[in-house]
Amino acid sequence: MKRFFKSSFALLMTAGLLMLCGCSVKNIVQKDTVFALDTVIDLTVCAPDRKALTGAETALLNWEKKFSAADENSEIGKLNGGDPAALSAETLELLLDAVAIAEETDGAFNPALKPVVSAWGFLNGDYRVPPEEEIRTLLPLTDYRQILISDGQVFLPEGQQIDLGGIAKGWIGKKLAEDLSEAGVRSALINLGGNIHAVGTKPDGSFWRIGIKDPSGDGVAGVYLAADEAVITSGGYERFFEQDGITYIHILDPDTGRPAGSDLLSATVIGGDGTRCDGLSTALFVMGREKAVDFWRNRGDFDMILIMKDRILITEGIRDRFTPEGTDARSLEILTGSK
Ligand code: AMP
Ligand code: MG
Repeated sequence: MKRFFKSSFALLMTAGLLMLCGCSVKNIVQKDTVFALDTVIDLTVCAPDRKALTGAETALLNWEKKFSAADENSEIGKLNGGDPAALSAETLELLLDAVAIAEETDGAFNPALKPVVSAWGFLNGDYRVPPEEEIRTLLPLTDYRQILISDGQVFLPEGQQIDLGGIAKGWIGKKLAEDLSEAGVRSALINLGGNIHAVGTKPDGSFWRIGIKDPSGDGVAGVYLAADEAVITSGGYERFFEQDGITYIHILDPDTGRPAGSDLLSATVIGGDGTRCDGLSTALFVMGREKAVDFWRNRGDFDMILIMKDRILITEGIRDRFTPEGTDARSLEILTGSK
């Protein structure tokens, strides 16, 4: 009898520990790395088998085929080629989200920037510095307010073209996270080239430790503790080219059609909606410190980490979740005063 109680107690303890771990008896950590969306994608899923993982991979390759502005056979490619007919509900949803962020950020995020992004070679890697005259001719084509969406169809004025590269990864990560949750996954980490979507916590119940890259070095500038949210970063270091000693980054200022002359090295946006976080991270980078801080103070419905040469600014809501790291001695400033 004594032995029976002993073994029952041991069983209860084990079950309790496993419940604490978040991974049930049958679940194990499944991992995979794929190259898509022009970046390395790491997927970590706590599940009994690889079904959820392979489902996520198939879905993300499908979405890539629909949204890529660099592929003339994608839905966006066809739209850019003058065919308004073939948009799926998903592409339409993403485009509507993109236009909403453009309106919210007064065009700092601009989904109609493709003619200028292409002119710099950022879509196909044939980098060049376009003559001022060329940029001046292209800029009038980038007015996102002229995108006409009606009855599920999209009409672009002559010469206008869409590039959703500044928001598509956020949308895809958010959908993958939702699909995994619906499939019963309680713990997963989706890393789309540094754009993170956390489902739940780590299998052991602790936060996911997300390294925020040092934009001017190889290491991390700090660690953010994430759970059930998106952590999306935009920075000039992600893609750039150099010519005659000048560095040209891939995030453009829609007002000038030239690389954003931001005083920020990177902008990270943290929140529940990955699509919005992605659009906002691009927009906040373009705005620069002062406007980005004003924008946050007027809204306050997201958190952010702004990295500058000498400082890291974080919003007060994440003061217990972010720790600066690395040898680089940037001072830490806590932003307060949002609505
Ligand atoms: P992200 O890494 O999310 O900031 O997205 C950068 C990508 O979005 C670039 O490689 C361009 O394809 C595109 N892009 C560049 N500047 C802008 C902008 N101001 N608004 C929207 N998309 C942009
Ligand atoms: Mg973005």
